[in-house]
Amino acid sequence: MSEPPPAGGVAEPADVAAWVAWLSPVLASAAAAMALISPDARILHANAAYAALLGRSPDELRGLPLAAVLPPDERPVADAAMRDLLAGRSPDVHVERRYVRPDGSVLVGLLSTRPVRTEEGAVLGFFSQLEDLTARAAAEERLARSEEMFRLAVENSALGTALLGPDGRWLRVNPALCAIVGRTEEEMLGLTFRDITHPGDLAADDRLLERLLAGELDSYQLDKRYSRPDGSWVWVRLTGSVARDADGGVAYIVAQIEDLTEERRLHRELAEQDRRFRMLADGSADVVVARVRTVPALRVEYLSRGVEKFARHRVEDFEADPSLLLDLIHPDDRARCAALFADPTLFGGEAVPLRILGPDAVRSILVRGQPIRDDDGAVVGFEALGWDVTDRQRAEEALAARERRFRALVEHAADGIALRDAGGVLRYVSPAITRITGYRPEELLGTDATFRLPRDQRPALESAVAASRTAPGASGFAEIRTVHRDGSDRWLEVTVSNHLDDPDVRGQILTLHDVTARRAAEEELARHAAYDTLSGLPNRASVQRDLAEALAVDPASVGVLFVDLSGLKTVNDTLGHARGDAVLVAVAHRIFSVVAGTGSVGRFGGDEFAVVTRGLRDAELADLADRIVREIDRPVTAPDGGQVFLAASVGIARGHPGAGAGSLLAAADLAMYDVKNRAGRGVRLFDTALAEQASARLALERDLRAADLDRDLRDHYQPLVDLATGRVVAAEALVRWQHPERGLVLPDTFIPMAEETGLIDELGLWVLAHACRRQLEWADRDITVGVNLSPRQLYEPGLPDRVAAVLEETGARPDRLVLEVTESALIDDRVARPALAALKNLGVRLALDDYGTGYSGLTSLRRYPFDTVKIDRSFVGRMTGSPHDLAVVRHVITLSHALGLEVVAEGVETAEQLRLLADAGADTGQGYHLGRPAAPERLLAAT
Ligand code: C2E
Ligand code: CA
Ligand code: CA
Repeated sequence: MSEPPPAGGVAEPADVAAWVAWLSPVLASAAAAMALISPDARILHANAAYAALLGRSPDELRGLPLAAVLPPDERPVADAAMRDLLAGRSPDVHVERRYVRPDGSVLVGLLSTRPVRTEEGAVLGFFSQLEDLTARAAAEERLARSEEMFRLAVENSALGTALLGPDGRWLRVNPALCAIVGRTEEEMLGLTFRDITHPGDLAADDRLLERLLAGELDSYQLDKRYSRPDGSWVWVRLTGSVARDADGGVAYIVAQIEDLTEERRLHRELAEQDRRFRMLADGSADVVVARVRTVPALRVEYLSRGVEKFARHRVEDFEADPSLLLDLIHPDDRARCAALFADPTLFGGEAVPLRILGPDAVRSILVRGQPIRDDDGAVVGFEALGWDVTDRQRAEEALAARERRFRALVEHAADGIALRDAGGVLRYVSPAITRITGYRPEELLGTDATFRLPRDQRPALESAVAASRTAPGASGFAEIRTVHRDGSDRWLEVTVSNHLDDPDVRGQILTLHDVTARRAAEEELARHAAYDTLSGLPNRASVQRDLAEALAVDPASVGVLFVDLSGLKTVNDTLGHARGDAVLVAVAHRIFSVVAGTGSVGRFGGDEFAVVTRGLRDAELADLADRIVREIDRPVTAPDGGQVFLAASVGIARGHPGAGAGSLLAAADLAMYDVKNRAGRGVRLFDTALAEQASARLALERDLRAADLDRDLRDHYQPLVDLATGRVVAAEALVRWQHPERGLVLPDTFIPMAEETGLIDELGLWVLAHACRRQLEWADRDITVGVNLSPRQLYEPGLPDRVAAVLEETGARPDRLVLEVTESALIDDRVARPALAALKNLGVRLALDDYGTGYSGLTSLRRYPFDTVKIDRSFVGRMTGSPHDLAVVRHVITLSHALGLEVVAEGVETAEQLRLLADAGADTGQGYHLGRPAAPERLLAAT
């Protein structure tokens, strides 16, 4: 070997032997795997732990070249490292090596080797410590895996989840929560929940929180609003609970925040995460060996160089002044240490944890010691071995703390969380699952992950599981009914996400969200939807549907009567709405009994009714209409006993091939209007004269086709006012047509024409572009603009692209644009759904317009991504006098809020309506009382 001799030379064999002799007993008492190596790299002495790691006995190892325990390919590297050590080119070596045991198994070990020298600098040998990284890696992995599972569950949860300090400050927020409140994690962490809570919800929230913190409540639930930075409010359902520390104090507030806006819930993203956790410690295995005399005085007999890593002093300093040893110890541990010095038998067999004052930080070491005795057996000092566990301890603490934190989140979650392994077996269920299903974890763990579902519900769950299996990270979704242990039905939304390929999870995570309450609310609304709540008769939409069906079968056999009552307004004005309502109901029953058997009756709203008949001849139709008129002529006895006189005007239209429900109703309506305007009572068949009026309409239609949009159209705006603040927060674009001869034509007249002629697409874009520009003009006032979309526009496949183009061109903010559609646009679900989804994807907001006049009810609010409901002005108009209508309005507001929708009340015409609506909790109002539609310059002029 052409190596230079070791710096300082090699110690005499006798010195080496003495060194081994006195250190061997120390090693024997150590739990750590340690060995003494000769200068020529043979194992001189290995303790039991060291030998056990290498799969041999200490005797077998003695004399073996260190290289022999390494696989052949690692030997040259190990030799070179030893030579470097000997030559003083490196002070010590920490390397990760593979060792092959005699039984063929492999150990991944961290080997730390440090030369030991005599006082003259001659190499006595090497001190070697081996640490089993396989075992440590496994322990780390175990911790990491359980933490990882909780972390994934929380981060992937659609449910907003947060930890707050007892002061209400956000400490930890998951991505779902950030999405709900439209803020980044950094923004949130600077705030308290109070900073973003709607002022109207704060008192209730604080009150509940106080009781929660006081231990009066286990948890609480509250529907409330959070602000988003764009000034909007988002409705959420908050579930608060506390996680307490070991001695019962409040550690965190755990908040589950469900976005009541359905769409956002469904649109969550699975955040791509860095799944690797860092290794625990840096593998430092440094050791200090000491032999200390305590009798007659403190004297350091030997101290290994390792101490210099922990102390500011050198070995020589300790030898000169042994009291430095105690100075090295953390003040809090000093008394304990002094006691050990005084009586080394106290070391016992245990490793004693001590903190020492390192050069720049406090370090934790474990010390194992044993007394040394003189020839008479009296204790005269001790030998001790210390090793540094600071980094490992710190890392373990951090991991454990993280795990505790995530466990708190998962275990307090309102949603149930479960882990299903690759074989379909449940491996973890959170406590909420018990609440949702009634079954305890031990009844579910180890079973297949079907949560004891009824058989007919299993395919849905299975297909969600299958959907999530298609790719790593994919998710599946199912809404299923399950039977709680107590026998009641529960509806669950189950989200399945695939983490099978994730080595830390190896399973699918199921999130179970209980939607039973919401289903009940929807069903109640669906009942309201098809029937007029006052009279119990089918409403306008059901009549239209009926009529369309009849026309599709045999148009010529169909007849339509349009009935309008005169005098009801007087009744309302003089007797009040409650009595007016009673009269209306009585009249509805009369019409119903006259028609009975010959057709169906529906209430169109207000004092209008429609009758659809099949198979009646003209004369019979006229006769039916007459009988209705006469029946209404009979005075009605009002609830107060007084007589009420009403009159009916009836228009008749007859079906013909090609007739649509809309045009037939319009014809009957026209005929009715004609009677009403001229006689105030009676019957009229839609005929040629009326047809002529209709042709005037055609002329108008022609003009419309010829119109130059930029010259003839006007975009007017009507303010929408926040009922809480009185501030104008939005403006609805309402188009007007400046007709060269007729003057201003209102949209109710020409929009249907534009729809029929197809002009609506161009006209609609014109309005959209203008509204977008206004939005920018009003940017400093934060005004959201609303634009009406007619059904036909929605059904135009290119609409989303065009809207996107207008947004791009004008630079308007999508989140300040509301597109309003009426329920009639939702008739064909297969078209409406993707169209609305595509619009929603642009980031615009969607409103359901004229709510209450259609039939689809609030069910459609859940099926479609609406943000807002606009309660039709007909409800608002009747509300003040009719307790019944007021109740309906309140009901709609409450349920809309429960579904996470904002509520706009339309047609606010009086201060009283305004007050009632604000009381009922409507968010925004629109109507003549708050501002009429006007040229854009006037929108803000009034405020
Ligand atoms: P809408 O979307 O329900 O618009 C509200 C209508 O109610 C407006 O009538 C407005 O003037 C009226 N209104 C507002 N406040 C009150 C009130 O306090 N009392 C009463 N009685 N009425 C009030 P307008 O401007 O005649 O528009 C009628 C309808 O025409 C709109 O109903 C909308 O469906 C349609 N429309 C208007 N502009 C457009 C447009 O640009 N495109 C499309 N596709 N439709 C439009
Ligand atoms: Ca509208
Ligand atoms: Ca409306």
